[in-house]
Amino acid sequence: MKVAIIGAGVSGLSCAYRLNQLGVRPVIFERRPIIGESVNLLGVHLNCFNHLFRNPLHFFEKKYALNIKPLTEVRRLVMIAQDREVAVTGRLGHIFNRGSARTSLEYQLFSQIEAELYMDTYIFDSMVEDVAKQFDSVVVATGRTDIPDYFGLSAESTIIAIRSGIMDGKYEQGKVISWVKTDYSRNLFIYLVPSSERKATITLMVDNISMNDLDLYWRKTVTTEAIANNFLETWDSEYYSCRLRKNRLGNIYFIGTAGGMTDDYFGFGIINAIAGGFFAAEAIAQGKSFERSIKPIITQVDQLHNLRLMANKMDSKTWKRLITIMGMPGISHAVYKHSLVKFHHFGALAGFFMKSDNR
Ligand SMILES: Cc1cc2nc3c(=O)[nH]c(=O)nc-3n(C[C@H](O)[C@H](O)[C@H](O)COP(=O)(O)OP(=O)(O)OC[C@H]3O[C@@H](n4cnc5c(N)ncnc54)[C@H](O)[C@@H]3O)c2cc1C
Repeated sequence: MKVAIIGAGVSGLSCAYRLNQLGVRPVIFERRPIIGESVNLLGVHLNCFNHLFRNPLHFFEKKYALNIKPLTEVRRLVMIAQDREVAVTGRLGHIFNRGSARTSLEYQLFSQIEAELYMDTYIFDSMVEDVAKQFDSVVVATGRTDIPDYFGLSAESTIIAIRSGIMDGKYEQGKVISWVKTDYSRNLFIYLVPSSERKATITLMVDNISMNDLDLYWRKTVTTEAIANNFLETWDSEYYSCRLRKNRLGNIYFIGTAGGMTDDYFGFGIINAIAGGFFAAEAIAQGKSFERSIKPIITQVDQLHNLRLMANKMDSKTWKRLITIMGMPGISHAVYKHSLVKFHHFGALAGFFMKSDNR
């Protein structure tokens, strides 16, 4: 069976991993000369986002023998809105290295696969149909929306402007801080993730703005938080998110961010990318229904999209009230430890607050 994977990122490599287990050695085309991001990103996964499993790493290891070592666990999550600060503690999730180092998530996946790999090879959207003629199946795992856009599959796409910076200082490993302040990041948020006791990465995400405006938000944030002078390096990137009408077109499968599996609110997509890669491989090699397997992922992304639509209307006061409730002991237990209350349920609560304020 001849399978081509476009993109050697999280979803493409996960697809290759599962294909290998099912007896297929795929061909992978990757536009970069290296595996993994050229910058030292950190990725966070919070277990409360699980739609399929409580502890995804444990699940992937048990069911698929996939061995991924995170940088560390998330042990404390601090959320700040206006002057209210709420902390939740426990085994809340994981932090991953995303650079090109051997410890990165991408490199760990790469070291567990067998494939015919073509690096420095950009597959243009107009070339995908030709690739599909030469292979039994093609998996689009490009982390971008251009190929689904080319095929007219995107129901909606969003570009989020991102500035990240590495800071020098003193940090508690496993402690993630998130600011939800409309004057810092409009409807999205900023988060700080330590990579060691001496360094942390801070990431600002703002949607629907130019890079010039991003600079204004960045300055506002770093001067108000008095951290403007702590940065060793900063870089800008864009994050693409789309929601697809369908994830399969004949023998072409769309997974990861290109398959609408990264939500457009929190921008969480690592775990969905791994699961999406596995599901595409099982559809290709075992004839399982791809649509049925990915349905929980797509449903969850849709729910977070609805939360985002609500967040677009929320002001700092509503955020403060929501975060206060999220931090209450019983509620935080239900959300973060048992996943009983999902994040998107807070959209309904925010709607209630906004309605009662307008009365
Ligand atoms: C700044 C930032 C921070 C993030 N933080 C988090 C986080 O904390 N937690 C979380 O869960 N998610 C996070 N995400 C989202 C997460 O990175 C994605 O959900 C995940 O990487 C999706 O995997 P993927 O395989 O779809 O795409 P990627 O991992 O981006 O891989 C795509 C690969 O395809 C290659 N490629 C692209 N186009 C082509 C082409 N035409 N031809 C050949 N190769 C191509 C790329 O070079 C890349 O290697 C973040 C994203 C960004 C941008």
